[in-house]
Amino acid sequence: MTVLPVIAIDGPSGVGKSTLARAVAARLGLTQIDTGALYRAATRAVLSADIDPTDTAAVAQLIGQVQFSYEPDLLLDGADPGDLRAPEVNAAVSYVAAVPSVRERLVDVMRRRAVELGGTVMEGRDIGTVVFPDAIVKVYLEADDDVRVQRRLADEHQAGRRHLDSHAVRSGLGERDRIDSTREVAPLSVPSDALRLDSTTASVDDLAERVVAAFRDAAEGS
Ligand code: C5P
Repeated sequence: MTVLPVIAIDGPSGVGKSTLARAVAARLGLTQIDTGALYRAATRAVLSADIDPTDTAAVAQLIGQVQFSYEPDLLLDGADPGDLRAPEVNAAVSYVAAVPSVRERLVDVMRRRAVELGGTVMEGRDIGTVVFPDAIVKVYLEADDDVRVQRRLADEHQAGRRHLDSHAVRSGLGERDRIDSTREVAPLSVPSDALRLDSTTASVDDLAERVVAAFRDAAEGS
């Protein structure tokens, strides 16, 4: 049996998971999968249907009927899902992601996509613990809160949302961290065998090199 080359990168919002995943994927010739985008697309579907994101039963029913596909970008019912980083998505996504049947559905989409791609660098909250517990390398990425807030604020300003200030971003991040780490199913947690990295001061290149070295060591040892 050939082992699917999967590198799992988990951690809270704003620690630089996407940037690191992209850098590692480019070095290893793999494709990155941003699993947060799936939960965000599901949230767009919920908001478009005018469903209250905290209404677990209604969310579960709707998401059971929505199609998620990659062509190669993520599509929702065959169409562009729209702005996945909009403030209303940020505010609702953790509620949608806490619904067990939504997670089951999307974990299935993630696993199928990883197989289709012949391996992946997958980033999220529960990749090393639930989605691919046998991933070749599991990374848990962290950063100081002030740095996370400043990075997210820069992203928001870049996206034209200049009215947001660091106070609003800090409280949004804090609320998502709280819901993501206390939910009953697949809460954000550190995989026991994870390589723990901190992006507060380290460069993306340095972090990516450490992940690639861990991947090569593990591949040689297997
Ligand atoms: O990574 P990103 O900030 O885009 O994720 C958005 C939200 O999606 C997270 O706050 C979390 O609620 C949910 N998520 C999750 N499990 C994943 C990826 C994201 O619950 N694997």
